[in-house]
Amino acid sequence: MASCADLDLLNVRLPLENESLLYRISVRDGKWARVQAQEATAVQPDFVSLERGALRKEIYDGSAAGQLDLEGKMLLPGFVDSHMHLDKSFSLTAVDNVSGTLEEAIRNYAAASPDFTKFEIKSRIMRSSLQALSFGTTHIRTHLDFNIRASREVALRTVEAALEAKQQLAPYMTLQLFPMVPFGLDDSGYEIVEEALQMGVDGIGGAPHLSPTPKEDIDRIFALAEKYDLPIDLHSDETDNPLMRTVEHTALRTKEYGYRGRVTVDHLCALASMTDQDAHQVIRRMADAGLKAVSLPAVNLYLQGRLDGYPVRRGVTRLREIWEAGIPIAVASDNIHDPFHPFGRGDLLQIALIGSYAAHMGRPADLRTLLRMITDVPASVLGLEGYGVKAGCDANFVIADAETPEELFTLLPERRWVYSRGKWLREPAAKAQWRDSSLAGWWEEASEAVSFRKRESVTE
Ligand SMILES: [Zn+2]
Repeated sequence: MASCADLDLLNVRLPLENESLLYRISVRDGKWARVQAQEATAVQPDFVSLERGALRKEIYDGSAAGQLDLEGKMLLPGFVDSHMHLDKSFSLTAVDNVSGTLEEAIRNYAAASPDFTKFEIKSRIMRSSLQALSFGTTHIRTHLDFNIRASREVALRTVEAALEAKQQLAPYMTLQLFPMVPFGLDDSGYEIVEEALQMGVDGIGGAPHLSPTPKEDIDRIFALAEKYDLPIDLHSDETDNPLMRTVEHTALRTKEYGYRGRVTVDHLCALASMTDQDAHQVIRRMADAGLKAVSLPAVNLYLQGRLDGYPVRRGVTRLREIWEAGIPIAVASDNIHDPFHPFGRGDLLQIALIGSYAAHMGRPADLRTLLRMITDVPASVLGLEGYGVKAGCDANFVIADAETPEELFTLLPERRWVYSRGKWLREPAAKAQWRDSSLAGWWEEASEAVSFRKRESVTE
């Protein structure tokens, strides 16, 4: 890897710090060296405008420190997408979903997955990761399909593809891999799960509300997590059924295992169907156990309420109430162009905006909360250390062409500059323009392999 591109940045807005100030900040060896408030807009003749082609070759390759004037643009730490399904992305051309329900998506995907090659799965992961990176996401936690019912080979193929992609992308971004433990396994099935846990994955996933015996499944997952000292991240109560409360059993076991802060629960759609009284009781138990939470507003708006006549439930969990109960809750992408969700582009600003619509969060304070739900809150879900724009922290960041959160949410600016792991990776351009030749090559290959054209067959 080329040497780090050192930077001095002037007239920077840091909306997660103090919005009324401008900052002067510098990067040395990929870390924030100085973060200092300025008195007022500063003029420094040595500094060149970020806007006017400032990322010159010598700045990019690190042979000269970049002295860049941001002219009041907003800088945020790299976005953290705490819940994706990178291995499934762009599979809609191969797997359809006529009813639009979660159940049909699961069924059809399970039937199709034995035919997917490792190359195809890896290409999907590469394409969707790079797309997210281009919008400013530098860390992703992805859940992995783990179809043991098809065969051991099918289940492990996805893990192998994901491990390869994770390693290849490591100089640019972080992927955390959580295989989803299927329900109702016998002991030989759990042996295959253990095999996967020993391959270098980052935690254990699952969706116990789909199981006829959710408590037993949750118990097995906790026992495995303890054995391998791994965190847990469960799809929880992703249903319109107000009686579904597997999250309460997860909360109970979290306390018993001393797993406070290491368990994340996702979706929580049932809370949106319950009475206030019931929901507040569940939320209190979640807070008491120290659970972390993730809402997937785009996908749940799409999938939930499918069997309702009007009025139709919208399914997105109680984002504001969970937040106000002191539970760290992030918003995340979930699925991209697959049978679970036909849209999405890996842009967390778009997801935060959809969260704002779904949870009626549009006041000035809400927009600032939503910004935290795609930055420092999911960073804590992933357990990241050294995250944020503070001296000594890793300088992974995105600059957006906006000066206030209001402008950011109103315009969702396409123009973003992404810097990660000591390098500029992306500057605004009409089409994907990677400054790194490896990234450009991988992007071309993955976009060729998985596209919006009808799928024929994908081979290397
Ligand atoms: Zn999911």
